[in-house]
Amino acid sequence: MTTMNRILMTGASGQIGSELLKVLRRKHGGPNVLATDIQVLAAAELRDSGPFEFLNVTDAKRLDDLLGSYRIDTIYHLAAILSATGEKNPHLAWDVNMNGTYNVLEAARNRKLVRVYIPSSIAAFGPETPRKNTPQETVLRPKTMYGLTKVAGELLAEYYVRRFGVDVRGSRFPGIISHETLPGGGTTDYAVAIFYEAVKYKRYTCFLGEDTSLPMMYMPDCLKSVLDLMDADFAGLRHHADFNLAAMSFTPAVLAAEIRKHIPEFSIDYKPDFRQAIADSWPMSIDDTAARREWGWKPDYDLAAMTKDMLDVLSRRKAAGTLNY
Ligand code: NAD
Repeated sequence: MTTMNRILMTGASGQIGSELLKVLRRKHGGPNVLATDIQVLAAAELRDSGPFEFLNVTDAKRLDDLLGSYRIDTIYHLAAILSATGEKNPHLAWDVNMNGTYNVLEAARNRKLVRVYIPSSIAAFGPETPRKNTPQETVLRPKTMYGLTKVAGELLAEYYVRRFGVDVRGSRFPGIISHETLPGGGTTDYAVAIFYEAVKYKRYTCFLGEDTSLPMMYMPDCLKSVLDLMDADFAGLRHHADFNLAAMSFTPAVLAAEIRKHIPEFSIDYKPDFRQAIADSWPMSIDDTAARREWGWKPDYDLAAMTKDMLDVLSRRKAAGTLNY
């Protein structure tokens, strides 16, 4: 296993970054993991456990300066504008996602970094992609600006692997469900909001229709996937920054029924908005054979285990008066 102990994370204040930061600081030591974002870290625990610097990922010079002054050898690049926010502001999504990824890859090449992590998304797929058990190698014609930047990011990462020998890795995350930091404007955000509203109000109005099946994953599996892929032997990887990943798939109606097993009075109604069209262009389920074969991917949480854990955590927080929603 390679020792990687000088890390810079972009987008560290976000839904995934804030939790990955905690795990990486535990693994590599707080002072060795530099958190960066355009917003401060919300949790005092994260602010106190290691360094933070403001970094807009479109600013290549500032990125390079930080890499030098902190003697960074590894980047986790999580800053991005997500699908729903990206459809409201496609120009910003292009700028942040394309230039951010390009700047990170260029910095990795120039500074000969050891390793880079750049996540992709199920948003890389589009309506022409087979929607059930979506294969690793398939049609990539997304219709959102976010998805388009994810496909370009995957292709650019692969180019940097082959052309410049940069070690870049990443997976196509499904919707990520978590209870630490609220999601930042994606199409799968309903699957987080539903838990908070179930605990707080015992009812929820869903912005997707009841039969909209989407691939999802619980945060502990997401974090495990990042650590496992980053620790995998590079020589054993045939793919690099575009691994399909699966854990569970469900519709809002199925999730509501699972929540009702714990909160029988829970009720849901449906008012689909512009995000329905985005969801309808994405896969319902994913074939992740390549990730299983090449680096041993295997999720721990299914729908029942994830639902129980989410409700346990949020109910405890409600009882303590710290739900913050
Ligand atoms: P998020 O929206 O919660 O966090 C993104 C962070 O990036 C935010 O803290 C934001 O302040 C920061 N940011 C925005 N613009 C920036 C800029 N110009 N410079 C620096 N920072 C900037 O997103 P997330 O859910 O944590 O996503 C992390 C990564 O995972 C992204 O690449 C995203 O596309 C990918 N992903 C997430 C999901 C999901 O369900 N959360 C699913 C698939 C892929």
